[in-house]
Amino acid sequence: MAKKIEFEAAKKSPNADAGKLRTSTEDKGIVQKVDKIIQEAVKEGATEIHLEPLQDTLVIRTRIKGALKSVDINIPADTKSNVINRIKVLSGMDITRTKIPQSGFFKLTLDERKIELYTYIMPTLHGEATIIKVQYKQSATLGLEQLGMTQNMLASFRKALSRGSGLYLITGPPGSGKRTTAYAAVLEVSKPEILAMGFDPMIKYDVPGMIQGKPEEKSEFTFAEGIRSVMKQEPDVAYIGDITCQEDIRAAIQGAFARRVVLCRMSANDSINAVQNIIDMGVQPFLLAASLSVIINQRLLRKLCKNCRQPYPAEKNIQKELGFRLPEGAKFFHQKGCDACENTGYSGLAAIYELYVPSEELNKLIVAKAPLDSLRQRAVKEGMISLKMDGITKAMRGLVTVEDVLNSI
Ligand SMILES: [Zn+2]
Repeated sequence: MAKKIEFEAAKKSPNADAGKLRTSTEDKGIVQKVDKIIQEAVKEGATEIHLEPLQDTLVIRTRIKGALKSVDINIPADTKSNVINRIKVLSGMDITRTKIPQSGFFKLTLDERKIELYTYIMPTLHGEATIIKVQYKQSATLGLEQLGMTQNMLASFRKALSRGSGLYLITGPPGSGKRTTAYAAVLEVSKPEILAMGFDPMIKYDVPGMIQGKPEEKSEFTFAEGIRSVMKQEPDVAYIGDITCQEDIRAAIQGAFARRVVLCRMSANDSINAVQNIIDMGVQPFLLAASLSVIINQRLLRKLCKNCRQPYPAEKNIQKELGFRLPEGAKFFHQKGCDACENTGYSGLAAIYELYVPSEELNKLIVAKAPLDSLRQRAVKEGMISLKMDGITKAMRGLVTVEDVLNSI
């Protein structure tokens, strides 16, 4: 069945009219070709579209379920720049400038699904390399239960959220599913009588009842300014996209002191590193200790196909690498491949988590600027399930492979 697709340039390219005036068959062919590449990619659920210029062609690859895959389409060398120009016009960029990096944005609707596409162009040896990042906007109906946390962890997270104010940090490397966790937490605490606001460079979900904004580079509405203006509106719940500097984190901590639930996304390898990152940003340890409610650290891994995963007994020698004892008769699982998973051995994604809930003792260590190792040891002693432990538990249940767990940490 033919799918209906509509493109919508987010803002007018300085050359949009020039693009429209070209009516030669050749150009129409290019427009159709590019539109088809994008259409096929989003139909397959691609998260990125890469256009990589080589000497005599333009290689097109799409990222689907984390892996790059070549698109079988021939773009002759003499039409490379026409293809890029079509994307530039769509993304609101200047087609006359080819020697500078540019970024842009456009939208499309595919069968009533709204999709946002962020374009980044960089000049390279054989032409302009282009990456289009695809954001599928969806209504956030994902509750905390669907995140895949263990019952105990879920209960601790809920308890921390029910305090009604404080700083909640959702951390992990890029692509670890932090936004999904943050939005699920917003939904958990949102009630009709409260004000929930969000500010994020990329808005992934429409949350009913939540007012969301994003920075606009062209109109000089910056990220830091956005956070400040969100806080001025005095929301009960504030979600802040990506904390990267002292200015951002200070605004977030002030919000937490003003008795708000402030949820922030931040890059960090583990929850204890997140503490260090914030102190390194120049925040006084006592301010952090006094406002911090929870740190979550997470990874997103390939989920094994239930149909074909293969159990095998955990070897003794892996116990050493894990650093803790596995139960007697513990099993892990290998991927295999079947019709249900298109022979990949995987189906969907699964998250692993670490949840740090500060105690009085842990806060004392933070204020005393104790080394990270002692903070980590103390947290584990108090019952913190580390990312590794959560991953290994999920590997024993056949959700993910033990190799993916260890590689992700
Ligand atoms: Zn399978």
